[in-house]
Amino acid sequence: MFLLYLFIILFIAYLLFWPKGSSGKRAKSRTSVGPRRLVKDPVCGIYVDEEEAIKLKWQGEILYFCSEECRDKFLEQHK
Ligand SMILES: [Zn+2]
Repeated sequence: MFLLYLFIILFIAYLLFWPKGSSGKRAKSRTSVGPRRLVKDPVCGIYVDEEEAIKLKWQGEILYFCSEECRDKFLEQHK
């Protein structure tokens, strides 16, 4: 299933590029706004961090949701 495959790739990328355990060396980048992107949840309208958002591939585009509840709500409305 393609979506599952996408999730696995994203998860691996997340693990590779976001080493939570490392500390110190790059403290400078902590205070500035990094390359992370805010994306809008189309259901409740709030902005969420792209990395932490629930992702859904829908009609060729990737949608981002703040929670699985919002994603499910979206799917309910677009059956
Ligand atoms: Zn939401």
